Amino acid sequence: MSLSHERSSTLFTEAQTVIPGGVNSPVRAFKGVGGKPVFFKSAKGAYVQDVDGNSLIDYVGSWGPMILGHNHPDVVSAVRDQALDGLSFGAPTALETELALKVREIFPSMELLRMVNSGTEATMSAIRLARGFTHRDKIVKFEGNYHGHSDSLLVKAGSGALTLGVPSSPGVPEALAESTITLTYNDLESVKQAFSEVGNEVACIIVEPVAGNMNCIPPVKGFLEGLREVCDEHGALLIFDEVMTGFRVSLGGAQAHYGVKPDLTTLGKIIGGGLPVGAFGGRKDVMEHLAPLGPVYQAGTLSGNPLAMAAGLATLKNLSRPGFHAELTEKAAKLLTGFKEKASEHGISLQTSQVGAMFGLFFTDQPRVDRFDQVMTCDGEFYGRFFHAMLDEGIYLAPSAFEAGFISDAHGDLEIQKTIEAADRAFQKLSM
Ligand code: PLP
Repeated sequence: MSLSHERSSTLFTEAQTVIPGGVNSPVRAFKGVGGKPVFFKSAKGAYVQDVDGNSLIDYVGSWGPMILGHNHPDVVSAVRDQALDGLSFGAPTALETELALKVREIFPSMELLRMVNSGTEATMSAIRLARGFTHRDKIVKFEGNYHGHSDSLLVKAGSGALTLGVPSSPGVPEALAESTITLTYNDLESVKQAFSEVGNEVACIIVEPVAGNMNCIPPVKGFLEGLREVCDEHGALLIFDEVMTGFRVSLGGAQAHYGVKPDLTTLGKIIGGGLPVGAFGGRKDVMEHLAPLGPVYQAGTLSGNPLAMAAGLATLKNLSRPGFHAELTEKAAKLLTGFKEKASEHGISLQTSQVGAMFGLFFTDQPRVDRFDQVMTCDGEFYGRFFHAMLDEGIYLAPSAFEAGFISDAHGDLEIQKTIEAADRAFQKLSM
């Protein structure tokens, strides 16, 4: 079976005449898997409909936000009701406090929090706050961790833990990149070493507590705890970037799952239920440095937008139901077990990872994939072929070997069974 993507192809050609690369975010261009992107028209539950009339089971979920499934009726009606009352005020609303209280109930480490419009804004603002609070400029991040596209964070290190940062993109000033130290995720020794040399100049460590932007890599035992200790020892702040993991790996995110408390947390994706929202928050004494209470400036015309707050609240209320995350975890495990069984039947080496409702697929012989360099040795070319074989079967996986997979409440036994059967045929085709 091969689906037609004729209309998508035409729309992509037209889009390229007016939008750079035809897309508003690079991963959508399918560079990681080859071919042309599929243009979507509508979505409901676990399914997206493309412009050629194909119905696809979706494991991207808008890159995470759609944990209830697409177009959940409660979220849609909350947005619709709010729209009738006004789209944006640029003045305080009760909804903002209601959502903030709900977030704090779920993430008690966020004693005070502020709403922003994206994950990028959340991490960028948290970094500025950490620098302003500590009066230090250097920050530590990990290779392969993604925290959005702000200048300080769009940096990867050259070889060696303390090599000065090199910008990952033209346009990021070298002077700024030099303040970003990039270390190896899941390698606590490299962190201890770096801090033994420049620890008293470091404002913060920012980390994806489960890495989800180099496929899905859970933290090895002791890594997050170790980061906490190093930060405490050197007076640096620990920032958990839970833009992806928040409300997904467990209700209370990675910090609840692993029992490690950061100083600051950044959220995005699910908190907006599909509308543009981010948030950052944490220790009261740190957050009180933020304007208008303190000197660290941060603002936003649309921050706390009422439609986005309404969508976020409806989403969080739904996913707070007891058993929600246990069910999602079980479903993801079932899916991965099916994938592994089918891969093995066709003689294909597949490793998987999972934390709650996020998962990873690695085509590799390595028994474990814990680090960035190990991810880079996985067979990305094979993933690309697998992606297209699955797309032909009506299954939409992430169009890149470096992204995590997401499952939603709307994925039922039927969808999971169909996906496993599709994988069986895809592996059969690819192993011929
Ligand atoms: N942090 C993490 C962990 C992310 O996964 C992302 C986006 O994928 C971001 C930050 C940036 O969020 P946004 O794309 O909403 O700016």
